[in-house]
Amino acid sequence: MAYKSISEIGEFGLIERLSKIAAPTMANTPALLEGIGDDCAVYRTGGGSVQVATTDLLVEQVHFDLLTTPMHHLGSKSISVNVSDVCAMNALPEYALISIAVPKNIPVEMVEQLYQGMAHAASRYGVAIAGGDTSSSPSGLMISVTMTGKADERMLTYRKGARPGDLLCVSGSLGGSAAGLKLLMRERDFMLEQLRDNQPYDRELMAELREYSEAIRCHLLPEARIDLVRFFHENGIVPTAMIDISDGLASDLGHICRRSNVGAHLEEGKIPVLSEARAVADEMQDDALSWALSGGEEYQLLFTLPKERYDDIAGNRDISVIGEILPAGEGLLLTDIFGMTIDLEGTAGGYDHFGKE
Ligand code: ADP
Ligand code: MG
Repeated sequence: MAYKSISEIGEFGLIERLSKIAAPTMANTPALLEGIGDDCAVYRTGGGSVQVATTDLLVEQVHFDLLTTPMHHLGSKSISVNVSDVCAMNALPEYALISIAVPKNIPVEMVEQLYQGMAHAASRYGVAIAGGDTSSSPSGLMISVTMTGKADERMLTYRKGARPGDLLCVSGSLGGSAAGLKLLMRERDFMLEQLRDNQPYDRELMAELREYSEAIRCHLLPEARIDLVRFFHENGIVPTAMIDISDGLASDLGHICRRSNVGAHLEEGKIPVLSEARAVADEMQDDALSWALSGGEEYQLLFTLPKERYDDIAGNRDISVIGEILPAGEGLLLTDIFGMTIDLEGTAGGYDHFGKE
């Protein structure tokens, strides 16, 4: 048998193959409204209410570097990324189960700091940490959080409901997480260089990190947009489709398009870019807009809404309309600030853990 390397098919290719193997287990489960393929699994629990469940794994050296990540930030982030997936279903989070694999050289106090960050974030979101599992790890820290949430079935929002003509909307501003990551990587490389050369650590770069604290915060301490879900619920707004931006705007829009069988038209000039991200990009001679398009780990919500419902969101200054949903087959079009239109399909990029673009 010829073996295929995972990087040939990429992370999404692998998930697709695995979900085919798992599919028969979901054949006779009428209460399961959504299995693999959305931000959460969704199942009926009786009495008109539904639960959602999601899980996310954070692995040292893949998702975080302990040199640049304080433990309590890491704890907070591991909760927020799961809350974000629950929010992407227009649901509210309830319980978390937390599994950790800890290398023997990490002291107890550091693990406690991790948990203090988790507990702090969990109480802010109204999540109860109700269990988990603990193991040693031969190589690096791993944190797996599983979270459940609940929603009224009528409020649930999937990736698959976008319709041609719908407005494409995004919360907050983008590019900050990528900018923060670039700054932290530069800091880490500099720190390692100085250590190698046996020089005292130069604090000058730290000052620069403080100057860009918002971008760093976007990366280290992202906040799930539970406030937006509450806004939707209070105003009876049910987006036709929604996803949280964890892979990157273009890539996650691609997920909505595939699941909804539609195309989309994005207008570059309407994409809200964090002003600090622009400043960092200028300094690094990079392009903040491309960070906003393909930078991952933003945890903003990308959603679609029928045009007639525009008035529902018009007053919310934290929501930007950045384009429109197109009929199937029209591609994933991007009109740049000069009016040139290109098709992003197949080039959307985004983050893939096995290195496939
Ligand atoms: P997200 O970025 O929202 O966390 P992912 O890209 O990680 O979503 O996953 C996409 C879908 O594939 C989700 O529905 C998730 O539950 C499912 N999935 C990912 N990995 C696996 C796996 N190893 N086995 C089964 N389902 C998986
Ligand atoms: Mg998600």
